[in-house]
Amino acid sequence: MKAFRRIGVLGGTFDPIHYGHLRVAEEVAEALDLAEVRFVPAARPPLRAAPVAAPEHRAEMVRLAIAGNPRFILERCELQRPGVSYTVDTLETLRQRLGPDVALCLILGSDAAARLTAWSRWERLGELAHLVLVHRPGGGPVPDPAWPPALLGQWEARRCDSPAALACAPAGRMLPVATTPLAISASFLRALLGAGRSPRYLLPDSVLDYIEINRLYLPGGG
Ligand code: ATP
Repeated sequence: MKAFRRIGVLGGTFDPIHYGHLRVAEEVAEALDLAEVRFVPAARPPLRAAPVAAPEHRAEMVRLAIAGNPRFILERCELQRPGVSYTVDTLETLRQRLGPDVALCLILGSDAAARLTAWSRWERLGELAHLVLVHRPGGGPVPDPAWPPALLGQWEARRCDSPAALACAPAGRMLPVATTPLAISASFLRALLGAGRSPRYLLPDSVLDYIEINRLYLPGGG
């Protein structure tokens, strides 16, 4: 049977990127034998407050964090697109660019998964990509009986239990992947920095150096 080349997509605000993001990407890449993981910084995320750092700063922090990992790629398409950054548009772009012969694997933490039905054209996401769901500390289980019925319906229709199932189709399946739980969030890092405290060892040193040099997330809301 044909095996589709698998490409991971991890979208986020990355305000800033931290080891929670990086470790999930690494473990999912290993579990699914992904050819690459594309980190997609959202320029203007629709469902949350505006990010603190400018899009170019957040992208640069991603670039620094993933340097040295040949499988990890900074995907800038949401920075180049005007308007609100919808994941569905990004997947349409990647699908057009990469063609029908790759399996796109959209990686979602369980906090993001629980809110999926609020995303623009959310049902289309599952037509363009597989959905790879990782439990995030504080983010609820996968699956979660508290999910909206429409999402639970998708889960029943699309769930699969083995990574091999994702290699057999370009999109359309949902797979839970167990990863090392890391209770790190960008908001916690911003709170530490804003209080003049150190976030060291929760994110790469290169990213922390960049934050300090560029005076991001300063105490007092700088
Ligand atoms: P914030 O605290 O500002 O909301 P965040 O830490 O949640 O930021 P995002 O950039 O919004 O980071 O997250 C992007 C994606 O990465 C989401 O799918 C989210 O669930 C996932 N993610 C972020 N941190 C973790 C973590 N520690 N473990 C698992 N998944 C994570």
